[in-house]
Amino acid sequence: CLAKNSEPSVAVVTPSKREERVVVLVIGGGGREHALCSALKRSSSCDSVFCAPGNVGISSSGDATCIPDLDVFDSEAVISFCRKWGVGLVVVGPEAPLVAGLSNELVKAGIPTFGPSSEAAALEGSKNFMKNLCDKYRIPTAKYKTFTDPSAAKKYIQEQGAPIVVKADGLAAGKGVIVAMTLEEAYEAVDSMLIENVFGTAGCQIVVEEFLEGEEASFFALVDGENAIPLESAQDHKRVGDGDTGPNTGGMGAYSPAPILTKELQSVVMESIILPTVKGMSAEGCKFVGVLYAGLMIEKKSGLPKLIEYNVRFGDPECQVLMVRLESDLAQVLLAACRGELTGVTLNWSPGSAMVVVMASKGYPGSYEKGTVIRNLEEAEQVAPSVKIFHAGTALDSDGNFIATGGRVLGVTAKGKDLEEARDRAYQAVEEINWPGGFYRRDIGWRALPQKQFASQG
Ligand code: AMP
Repeated sequence: CLAKNSEPSVAVVTPSKREERVVVLVIGGGGREHALCSALKRSSSCDSVFCAPGNVGISSSGDATCIPDLDVFDSEAVISFCRKWGVGLVVVGPEAPLVAGLSNELVKAGIPTFGPSSEAAALEGSKNFMKNLCDKYRIPTAKYKTFTDPSAAKKYIQEQGAPIVVKADGLAAGKGVIVAMTLEEAYEAVDSMLIENVFGTAGCQIVVEEFLEGEEASFFALVDGENAIPLESAQDHKRVGDGDTGPNTGGMGAYSPAPILTKELQSVVMESIILPTVKGMSAEGCKFVGVLYAGLMIEKKSGLPKLIEYNVRFGDPECQVLMVRLESDLAQVLLAACRGELTGVTLNWSPGSAMVVVMASKGYPGSYEKGTVIRNLEEAEQVAPSVKIFHAGTALDSDGNFIATGGRVLGVTAKGKDLEEARDRAYQAVEEINWPGGFYRRDIGWRALPQKQFASQG
């Protein structure tokens, strides 16, 4: 990584070279961004990759030159970095810089940017905005009503009956959704959001919606403002414990493809949900450029998908399995999205499957110790074919050892001819890693695979 005032050790591209090969800046510093950097580095149209702030795993693997001191919330600093180093494509990983308007400023400065404007990011930032768009453009979603008055909300809940779902309108760190099995639970959720303000302004307005029964699935599409192309299917595991038990996390593992999303279902999702959203956003004067990540419920009754929520960026860890499977030139595809030229683009994927097992600090998602030493990462990458480890929360100590600095720390990925082989390879690598301070789930992919137990670590 580059320390303050030092210069990146890559040549500035000349204008003629820039026409064919692009310098890319990835914004973010997690496993998702590591996976994006790695896929961009493989792109033949990519000259070099910067990542801000990045992390030590990204720089030590050589996947990008990291710029830890570039403040990604200071758009002027990002623009001047791009001008200085001839950056021709910015890829924004996390939602926070998008919501803060980084994409708006970069696009205004003429820098192609993959990631929506702050206005378009409202698809994730406001449940009410998303639900209203669904209403107007007839996108299938749970029946709902929006409230700011607690008595009116409770009256509606009483009329509808339980189970019922109460949601804070704004971003609430993944905690703003209460699936209430009884009326009392629903009333409590209303009080906590509208009277006690537990989510601050994010909960000043709430959405009360119909409880949907079925199996959840995630769907990803690249969007160029007017058109969209689907990515391969991927599914994550949100709960911390084996068998999908315990509290929610950022994601403890993922696999691709996800059998639940059959080709037929994928076309239904594109036609009934993704494309109407893209057209609707454009008609509202709020063109969306970036990744649309739809959380879906495949309804038990009808077998049809309904939209639960939108995210406006890649899911992490799903991005990790998608990027290791992507064979197309990612830089070229993302540039095509920025230029509104995705029509006719098809993506190539490695056949077979990929899996990522997330390794986290013991205690996560609660409190956890920082600074525990992780050994054998190089050996783990050699233990089976196609293993690649993405870093999400590591640093180097004074002896040059990797240490854990976050909750989710490593994404251990592997590909295989099928999901079983991908899983065996990923877990072989996980077991090679010597990290007494870490833990992982032993059943990633269980819904798609016959049950098989793995030795626990630590
Ligand atoms: P969201 O943040 O909107 O994705 O909601 C978080 C989780 O709450 C989802 O992944 C679902 O498990 C659950 N959920 C949200 N909305 C509904 C709904 N209408 N019916 C049933 N479960 C829901």
